[in-house]
Amino acid sequence: MSSRIYLDWNATAPLRPEAREAMLAAMDVVGNPSSVHAEGRAARGIVEKARGQVAALVGCEPSEVVFTSGATEANNLVFRCEHAWHPSVSAEIEHDSVVLPLDHAEVFHGEAVAWAAPDRDGVVAPGAVIAAARPYLTGRQTTVFHADRPAEEFEDLSLTVSIGAANGETGVLQPLTEIFSAIPTGLKSLFHSDITQALGRTVPIWASLAHRLVSCSSHKIGGPKGVGTLAGRVTQLDPIIRGGGQEMGRRSGTENVIGIAGFGAAAEAALRDLEDGVWERVEKLRDDLEHALVSAAPDIIIFGKDAPRLPNTSCFAVPGWKGETQVMQMDLAGFAISSGSACSSGKVGPSRVLRAMGYDETTASSAVRVSMGPTTTEAEVMAFAETWTDFYRRRRAAA
Ligand code: PMP
Repeated sequence: MSSRIYLDWNATAPLRPEAREAMLAAMDVVGNPSSVHAEGRAARGIVEKARGQVAALVGCEPSEVVFTSGATEANNLVFRCEHAWHPSVSAEIEHDSVVLPLDHAEVFHGEAVAWAAPDRDGVVAPGAVIAAARPYLTGRQTTVFHADRPAEEFEDLSLTVSIGAANGETGVLQPLTEIFSAIPTGLKSLFHSDITQALGRTVPIWASLAHRLVSCSSHKIGGPKGVGTLAGRVTQLDPIIRGGGQEMGRRSGTENVIGIAGFGAAAEAALRDLEDGVWERVEKLRDDLEHALVSAAPDIIIFGKDAPRLPNTSCFAVPGWKGETQVMQMDLAGFAISSGSACSSGKVGPSRVLRAMGYDETTASSAVRVSMGPTTTEAEVMAFAETWTDFYRRRRAAA
């Protein structure tokens, strides 16, 4: 066992050896994928191979994959797709890269945005989405549209529904099929799911959904950071980045060939892992960890424990024992974990997700997240449980 134990896979996963190898090979390919000569065609070959590998994992056609700089860009791009300048419904627990573009659309462009609340387990129920969407389902006169837009533009009222597949903090999985099928079929709705945390870790239920777009990120599946995709059927899209027309005009700029090569190789390895059932072993480790923590600390709260969850995530709190303090204590003891809101750089404070689930500020400030992956060992997880329990007991004794 190395001296450090990494249990923060939801922040980012360690680079897979397959991804490293593919990137090293791509580094020596000199061509620009847009060039027609042999060198260019070699680079194009790398990009297109990866597009196929990513499509196979996501469960879409290769032609539906638009490579981006990551899930953040993909989530920003979604709201510039054909139906997206229409009312949007999302959930309070979405990642900032979904919440903030929608806030921006509302504040600066007068778009109508509604937010569905999760229940105490962190599940966004179909009924909550319908309740949030209700003003737009019963007639467009109730919606507030941008003053510059003619009313005829809204003859075919449509709705953008954006619900993440799995929450990064709690690991709770959302009932996407039920949510999307609860929206009346008469509407030309666009369904989007941020699948960043679910990709490669669970059965891809989003693949079978009609009118769906998904966002994901290479580094959560063991590829390099700084590359991701928006995938799905889009006929019209207002690009964020204009220029040379790469990615079929949907995202200009010479492709990140090295990053894309690594993403593709990681996707292929992740698909193999999924088919081999490696996450079942991880799920057992997670359950054993929670069992050990509950035995040691009767006042522990495990968030989303009764909901369907990712197999690798445990988010828990001992109210009053600050998440940041635990993260620092565990870091000094050799363990990398994160506090509730760690995905956003340098942010401290109560988790927005746990607050939305109805937990008070003290509890939401006391959460930590342990997240594992296919190379996590039982010895690592048990070492964590022992060290954490030790800190817990010392804290109690001091109180
Ligand atoms: N969505 C979710 C659910 C995430 O967890 C993350 C990464 N923390 C992102 C989007 C952003 O991904 P990226 O780092 O690739 O921009």
